[in-house]
Amino acid sequence: MTGGASTLVLGSGAGGLSLALLLAETGRRVTVIECQDHPGGLLQRFYRHGIPFDTGFHFTGGFGGVLNQMLEVLGLSAAVRETPFRSRLLLAETGRRIALPTGGIDAVGAALEAEFPAEADGIRRYFEREKAIVQRTPMFDLRSAPSDPLAFDENEFITLDQWLDHLRLSPEVRTVLGSAALCHGSAPCEVPLAFHSRVSHGLFDHLARVEHGGDAFLEGFRERARELGIELRTGVRVTRLLELRDRRCHRVLLSDGAELPCDELYFAVHPRAVAELLPPELPGARRFREQTADREESCSFFSWFGVVEPRSGVEEPPELTSYISHCNLNRILRPGAGGATGIGMVRAEEQLPDGRRIHTLTAFATAFAAEAIAPGGDYRRDPAYRAYKERRCRELEQRILEAYPEYAGRLTRFDAASPLTFRRYDPPSGCAYGPRRRVQADRGFGRLPLRNGYLAGHGALIPGVLGTLMSSFLLVRRIIGEPAWRQLLQRKLKEVRS
Ligand SMILES: Cc1cc2nc3c(=O)[nH]c(=O)nc-3n(C[C@H](O)[C@H](O)[C@H](O)COP(=O)(O)OP(=O)(O)OC[C@H]3O[C@@H](n4cnc5c(N)ncnc54)[C@H](O)[C@@H]3O)c2cc1C
Repeated sequence: MTGGASTLVLGSGAGGLSLALLLAETGRRVTVIECQDHPGGLLQRFYRHGIPFDTGFHFTGGFGGVLNQMLEVLGLSAAVRETPFRSRLLLAETGRRIALPTGGIDAVGAALEAEFPAEADGIRRYFEREKAIVQRTPMFDLRSAPSDPLAFDENEFITLDQWLDHLRLSPEVRTVLGSAALCHGSAPCEVPLAFHSRVSHGLFDHLARVEHGGDAFLEGFRERARELGIELRTGVRVTRLLELRDRRCHRVLLSDGAELPCDELYFAVHPRAVAELLPPELPGARRFREQTADREESCSFFSWFGVVEPRSGVEEPPELTSYISHCNLNRILRPGAGGATGIGMVRAEEQLPDGRRIHTLTAFATAFAAEAIAPGGDYRRDPAYRAYKERRCRELEQRILEAYPEYAGRLTRFDAASPLTFRRYDPPSGCAYGPRRRVQADRGFGRLPLRNGYLAGHGALIPGVLGTLMSSFLLVRRIIGEPAWRQLLQRKLKEVRS
């Protein structure tokens, strides 16, 4: 693509790549700048002895709804295909195990009412409110009429805990209904009910894995990027914004010494990485930096990666077990949890190139970067860091066997990743979902002190791959305006054309 505006996108995770495709679709000349050697951020998989493991992206909601619409517009429908996945909860404090049905959010609500009959009324009201919030959020349907995406919803102003208090629910039921907080990383005592519901709804309604995980997205992105003439530069970072006039940046300096002209700059990276780049003399830059530094981070994870030996004649389908050690998510989702933990255990089935099918198990436990203290230099060789990793791995293996006693003698560990490992995927913080969300805190979505600079990625609006894609769509819709947005949908969405 030549001749259009010169657009730079920093970061090549789900946020940066989806923005790049959408912006190129509008005729812009797009260059993506990625500081790592490989694109993909937390979409990336890694391989041990030829076996694939997921780093950040394991499962998603949204298939059958807005995710299908977005994949169609991005041209990724053929590349990204869902595979069935089921979900269970284990509340370790009380020993309760709950299998969630796969037939949609109403089926989940009915199952929970049957599980906790004395609290059926509160559970019903919880789900009614969650569904209403999503129905009122225009960005859950790309064809929706334009309006503020989060449109003055009063549920922005109450916390999840306030609503659960109002419903007088027991700690067990609160933990079940709040369990999706492990997928946005903000504690129920501070997270807006509306924000929680937007993440939670998709996971209760239709949980799925993607065949070949993040690789499927990346293959699809690569192919579309080639077709649209998007340039991808890896292993370089922007080191300075140059030619700042009228609060606009017209040129950037890269770490390899090259200079690139730019009409627009999209930052699909952590807001702190943006703050580091804004020159102090830029009006508003200092304030942005202070605000960013003040915002606490969402949780990160310590991940255990391994394989489960199959049992002959026994079917063990792919599933998520959410292991929650204490019926108090606030303890789990704030630093200093003192042993309280939430763990996502994902059993997946992978087909290897030689045709073998194998069961992988990834267990990711809430963790905070401060616990994996980084000594200077190469921390990976530091004995204290290695001892920390070994201790966490053993703890996780114990919890896995608590959830799956039948795995005794069948588990093989392949690797582990700490919050410091995730810092390499999403520098500089390594948190799983960007800054924590608080009632009435400024979301800062899209806004930067630069007139031609925009903030995207999972730190901008909603985390998770689904939320990150929705944020990119919303940002592009605002930038290009309604007529161009309608034209884009007309061109790309079958259901709009017909
Ligand atoms: C352990 C774990 C499990 C998770 N599980 C799930 C899940 O099952 N489902 C789900 O939907 N979400 C999950 N998430 C969250 C999800 O991965 C993220 O919300 C989403 O992938 C974020 O996409 P992004 O593009 O905003 O950021 P990223 O994927 O982090 O991409 C940011 C990219 O920007 C690059 N970058 C950073 N700074 C610069 C710079 N200055 N210059 C150039 N490039 C830069 C980084 O190298 C990276 O490639 C999980 C996260 C973690 C850590």
